[in-house]
Amino acid sequence: MEALDKTGIDISAVRKQFPILSQSVNGRTLIYFDNGATTQKPQRVINAIVEYYSSYNSNIHRGVHTLSQVATRKYDAARATVSSFINAVDPSWVIFTKGTTDSINLIATCYGNKFVNEGDEILITSMEHHSNILPWQELCHRKKAVLKVLPVDDNGVLKYEELDALLTSRTKLFACAHVSNTLGTVNDVKRLVDAAHTKNIPVLIDGAQAVPHLKVDMMELNADFYCFSGHKMYGPTGIGVLYANEKWLDVFDVYQSGGGTIRLVTFDKTEYAEGPHKFEAGTPNIEGAIALAEAVNFMQETGIPNLSRYEHELLEHATARLNEIAEVKIIGTAPCKAGVISFNVGNIHPFDIGTLLDKQGIAVRTGHHCTQPLMQCYGIQGTVRMSFAVYNTKEEIDVFIDALKKAIKILS
Ligand code: PMP
Repeated sequence: MEALDKTGIDISAVRKQFPILSQSVNGRTLIYFDNGATTQKPQRVINAIVEYYSSYNSNIHRGVHTLSQVATRKYDAARATVSSFINAVDPSWVIFTKGTTDSINLIATCYGNKFVNEGDEILITSMEHHSNILPWQELCHRKKAVLKVLPVDDNGVLKYEELDALLTSRTKLFACAHVSNTLGTVNDVKRLVDAAHTKNIPVLIDGAQAVPHLKVDMMELNADFYCFSGHKMYGPTGIGVLYANEKWLDVFDVYQSGGGTIRLVTFDKTEYAEGPHKFEAGTPNIEGAIALAEAVNFMQETGIPNLSRYEHELLEHATARLNEIAEVKIIGTAPCKAGVISFNVGNIHPFDIGTLLDKQGIAVRTGHHCTQPLMQCYGIQGTVRMSFAVYNTKEEIDVFIDALKKAIKILS
C-alpha cells in the first residue's frame, strides 16, 4: 500500500480513481487546475450513472414494478445521503435542483414573489457570482425593490463592520457566498447568519465553492437556505441541492407546477404535496441524484478534514511559489481561504497566459469568473485562476510554476 500523506490521504490511490487524469493534453500529462468551474469524476460516480441506465432505468415514485421501486429507493436514499452529509435537520429539507443557479432562482422567485415589495431591500456582497446577483437584481426590478451591497476590502475580506448598517428594517433577505469562487475567501457565514437573524432577516448562503472543500453543517449554521452544485464536488452536472428550512417550504407557492408536486388534482384546483416533492416538478434527474450520493460517499471515505487539510497545503505551496515570481500579483489575500488562487502577471492579459499554459497541458480558468462587479471593484478585467481538488499535487504545482515562468518569458 502507498504511504499515506501526512494529511491522511493516499494521494496516488485517490488519483487512480479518476480516469481522465491519466490522459495527455497537447502532448503532456493533463494538469487540471480548473476545479472551481467543475471537478473531474471518480470512476465510482461514472459507474453509478452507467449502472442506472444498464440495470434499473425507470421512472420513480408511483411505480409498482420492480425497476421503478429500485430506482425510487435509490433516489430517496440519495436524498438521505446528502442530508446526513450536510447534517441537515431532516432529509425533507433537501430539494434536488439543477444546481446552485437553479436553487437561487427558486428562492428569488418563491420568496421574492411572496415577501418582497416596493421599497424593500435585498442585501448581497461585492464578491458574489453572477448566479447570486442576477436573480436578486431581476427580483428588485420586478418588485421595485433595492439591491444593496456589502463591500469587500483590498485583501478580499468582507467589511463586516458595515454589515449592521446595511441590515435595515427594509432588508428582506441577505444572500452571500460561503467561499468566493474568484478570491477563495472563506466568509464567516456563521457570524453573517447570526447578525441577520438578530434582526429577523432570512439568509441564503451560496455554498457552491464551500461544499467541495469544507465540512458544512446545516444544524450549526442555521441558514434559511443553502445552495450547492453536484458537478463541483465530484458529482455529475445537472444536479444540485437547495437546503431550505421547512418553515419557508410550507408557506411558499410552487416554483414550477406539474407532475410529482401534487397530492390531489381536480379541474378546479390542486392540493400540493408537502416537503421537497412540492418543488421537484416533473421527472427529476434520477441518475444525477444517485451519482451525487456516490460523490458524497467518495468525499466521506476520503474524509472531509483530510481533504481540507490536504487542499490547504496545496494552497499554501502554490501561494508561496507564486510569490517567488516578482511580476505576479495575487488577487485575494484573505487570511482564511479555500481552494482558489487568482492572480495577474504585470500587464499580460490572463487569456494569453491561459492559452500558453494549455499548450503545456495545464488547465486554468481566465477571465472575470462570472464576478464582473468584483472585477470592477478591483479595477481589473480578469485574472488567471487556479483552483484545486483533492487529486492535485504539489508536483503539479511545481510543473505549473515552470510553465508559468516560460509563458511570462514569451509574453514579456
Ligand atoms: N456560485 C458560485 C460561488 C460559483 O462558483 C458558481 C459556479 N462557478 C455558481 C454559483 C453557479 O453554479 P452552477 O453553474 O453550478 O449553477
